[in-house]
Amino acid sequence: MNVICDECQKEFWLDRPHILTMTSGEYEVQYFQCPYCRKKYHVLTSDAEMRGLIGERSRIAGSIRLARAKHFKEATIKKMIVKLDKIKQQQEEKEKELKPIGEQLLEEGQTNGEHCTEGSE
Ligand SMILES: [Zn+2]
Repeated sequence: MNVICDECQKEFWLDRPHILTMTSGEYEVQYFQCPYCRKKYHVLTSDAEMRGLIGERSRIAGSIRLARAKHFKEATIKKMIVKLDKIKQQQEEKEKELKPIGEQLLEEGQTNGEHCTEGSE
């Protein structure tokens, strides 16, 4: 996708492999950077709980796919979807809580190891 930097107004192309991760204690902050002025943009911040939710969510999503492929009863699948929605909700709540922390960390630039998260989901 094309992104226009708020800071320098230059346009650049952003791809998934360009998303960087910085870690600070238990927090993992995903962000991208303007290639021209180096401004950092927050994408997602996670802590141990958030990562647990992300794992749980993909596990249930996988079960649902399998249940559909195996033609499980609609009621069984519905129960799984309810569970999935609950996790989504928890994630959204967490996101609200973590976003300001992540933005703060980016601003401070407390980096103890930056790496590319290519291919991770
Ligand atoms: Zn810029």
